Amino acid sequence: MIYTSLKSPENRDYTYDLNVAHLYGNLLNTYGDNGNVLMIKYVGEKLGAKMTFDIVSVGDDFDKDHYDMVFFGGGQDYEQSIVAKDLPSKRDAIGQFIQDNKVILAICGGFQLLGQYYIQANGVRIDGIGVMGHYTLNQENNRYIGDIKIHNEEFDETYYGFENHQGRTFLSDDEKPLGKVVYGNGNNKEDGTEGVHYKNVYGSYFHGPILSRNANLAYRLVTTALRNKYGQDIELPSYDDILSSEIAEEYADTKSVSLFFISISKDVFSSICLQFYDYQSLKWQSYQTRAKFV
Ligand code: GLN
Repeated sequence: MIYTSLKSPENRDYTYDLNVAHLYGNLLNTYGDNGNVLMIKYVGEKLGAKMTFDIVSVGDDFDKDHYDMVFFGGGQDYEQSIVAKDLPSKRDAIGQFIQDNKVILAICGGFQLLGQYYIQANGVRIDGIGVMGHYTLNQENNRYIGDIKIHNEEFDETYYGFENHQGRTFLSDDEKPLGKVVYGNGNNKEDGTEGVHYKNVYGSYFHGPILSRNANLAYRLVTTALRNKYGQDIELPSYDDILSSEIAEEYADTKSVSLFFISISKDVFSSICLQFYDYQSLKWQSYQTRAKFV
């Protein structure tokens, strides 16, 4: 059953209309990914578009001609395995949507499932729909968790986020990364890539959600969808006009807080230890004080 989860208010004048499919929005919505929907709506309305978001999930047809944009979020392995069983029914439509240069934002689990296959944490392989070339391996007893910053050379844009994934993704030759890793792990911690950019598909491991921390990317996605639908030469407000003041640079580079622990030994001394990851030296640092028990 397709249902509309969010809509722009009726009582305003809009120049445009955009229909967004939120693929499996009731299953893949981890780590605040649904915030991307709110951000797409916010930016769309600033650009004069009436926005409608439908959840298209298990058993639903994906009408590639009706939708102008797709958002496909991330999820745990269990939810991903449910989605993987249904996805083949939408494979041809999603593949054509991509070849038609329509816009997709796919995060983490969604990004993995557009590719060839994904090996879960327990070693079990689930097939992706293979509409893109990348594949995802697993790793033993480890996840990539933490702050991440990347730079996209083509757009000369920087993106900030928080990654949390066990999958290690490798891109195919016809796929570019969304950016090169400045700090963090990225797709696989080996080749310095993060995410994917293929035609108008943008994939990433960034939660956070990615678009609320990166209004520049949100602007790129929504303006691309509008130009696809209404013509490349439509006049749209610039990023500086509508969004540049939204995210001050000093907040964009904010990192999550360090690990702090206190250990108290029962005998003579107690010790207090503060451990944190220093992003300047890219090393763990610790400070320790010892005090005599009285
Ligand atoms: N389950 C996948 C992994 O761990 C995707 C995780 C996610 O979407 N955050 O790699």
